[in-house]
Amino acid sequence: MNEATGSGGSYDYDLIVIGGGSGGLSASKAAAKYGKKVLVLDCVSPTPLGTTWGLGGTCVNVGCIPKKLMHQAAILHQSLEDARKFGWTFDEKVSHDWTTMKDAINNYIGSLNWGYRVALRDNGVTYENAHGEFIGPHKIKATNKKGKETVHTAETFIIATGERPRYLGVPGDKEYCITSDDLFSLPYSPGKTLVVGASYVALECAGFLAGLGLDVTVMVRSILLRGFDQQMANLAGDYLENHGVKIIRRFVPTKIEQIEAGTPGKLKVTARSTEGSENIEGEYNTVLLAVGRDSCTKNIGLEKVGVKIVEKSGKIPVNDVEQTNVPYIYAIGDILEGKLQLTPVAVQAGRLLAARLYGGSSVKCDYINVPTTVFTPLEYGACGYSEESALEKYGAENVETYHSYFWPLEWTIPSRDNNKCYAKVICNKQDQNRVIGFHVLGPNAGEITQGFGAAIKCGMTKEQLDSTIGIHPACAEIFTTLSVTKQSGQSVQQSGC
Ligand SMILES: Cc1cc2nc3c(=O)[nH]c(=O)nc-3n(C[C@H](O)[C@H](O)[C@H](O)COP(=O)(O)OP(=O)(O)OC[C@H]3O[C@@H](n4cnc5c(N)ncnc54)[C@H](O)[C@@H]3O)c2cc1C
Repeated sequence: MNEATGSGGSYDYDLIVIGGGSGGLSASKAAAKYGKKVLVLDCVSPTPLGTTWGLGGTCVNVGCIPKKLMHQAAILHQSLEDARKFGWTFDEKVSHDWTTMKDAINNYIGSLNWGYRVALRDNGVTYENAHGEFIGPHKIKATNKKGKETVHTAETFIIATGERPRYLGVPGDKEYCITSDDLFSLPYSPGKTLVVGASYVALECAGFLAGLGLDVTVMVRSILLRGFDQQMANLAGDYLENHGVKIIRRFVPTKIEQIEAGTPGKLKVTARSTEGSENIEGEYNTVLLAVGRDSCTKNIGLEKVGVKIVEKSGKIPVNDVEQTNVPYIYAIGDILEGKLQLTPVAVQAGRLLAARLYGGSSVKCDYINVPTTVFTPLEYGACGYSEESALEKYGAENVETYHSYFWPLEWTIPSRDNNKCYAKVICNKQDQNRVIGFHVLGPNAGEITQGFGAAIKCGMTKEQLDSTIGIHPACAEIFTTLSVTKQSGQSVQQSGC
């Protein structure tokens, strides 16, 4: 084997990346492009129900990609209903076939898995389908599925091991419940489903399952979409409820029992109130847990090399160049303490880290003003501060919030959902009314938010937003004409319908 020579001696590789997800693949391909000798280790531990998947990490296999495609399947259902109002007639009763959708999505994911393998090979990156674990300084043990162990050394390491869904820790959870890791390749329609949790994963899954015509209930311990603007979170939740999703608030499951085996079977859920001693019971075909995710930092030998983790969160603290407390070990992606957990963030951090390590760059990953979108049936896009965090940081007297409801033109003919879509910008009066928070609830919010994200990165002020000419008729044009401040108390309801 050719040896890579580092300043501290000779190693098998210049760089070993643990985890072949969004961050790890981006960093390893970029490092190889700088002529470095790179090994990527990626391995998926099966879920308690035995679900597993290929190369590419969470986003591609059990995250963004299947989620957005199932969201699209649900949107098509709504479009079919709207279509009749636009003159389309179809006689057949509309029904949905889960297996057809699931197979099509999984075939597409399979092609992406293959594409990642080819890309690694084309870039000269060595890939091993093996679990990586530090066994000493600059040294790692790779264990493949058959239990075969190999040892590799490298000058530099990047940890990009991501997270996995958390379980409740109550009787029956691992035996009978599924998580998002199982849902997207479930071989049968989940049927009547209880979604436990209020994270974006919970609300997105509840939204598309209901959109596919299933009976869906969400059980929420406290607030919806913690960390997001709460007015927007509640509006997105209201829309879910108006479109058939039942929400049980302030309850947590205490026990899941199987009443009937099957695909799907039947489960009994017992839940306890978080405010008193009341217990409730319900029967569902599927219970989907979306109660948070745990970082994969516990069984990778970090203690052997002295990498610190935050005990409570299990996450790895890094400095502004993604370096851990051990100088030759870096970390990127979802396992970072206090950083945004999004694919484009992990990809950018990985690419820039490789450029700094091997390309003479000094550009750091900017974790501020990252645009993001929650793909609930009514999408919620955001960039910058939530209203509550802006008020807390700058003080109510220094913050001006402009807002309005809007009615997408496409929704007028089907006469649906007026005063549900909503636009809000938050401005810092002390800094030329600069836009520090952008929030939109409406169709295609992801597409809208991406463009405004670029403008906010460039430091857009409210005056510049007002001087931008709108695109008519489009939902996003509302942002060029926002004139009512929240403080004025004036109505922003749209008339008509
Ligand atoms: C349901 C869901 C929907 C999501 N939707 C979006 C979205 O719409 N937009 C968005 O931007 N983000 C979304 N995300 C988040 C996104 O998927 C993550 O932010 C992103 O995948 C993080 O990348 P990563 O490289 O840190 O980790 P991952 O992509 O999770 O990759 C880590 C890889 O390392 C492997 N691994 C772990 N330990 C080891 C080990 N010891 N040895 C070898 N391999 C190991 C894992 O199996 C995995 O393959 C979603 C997540 C979920 C769960």
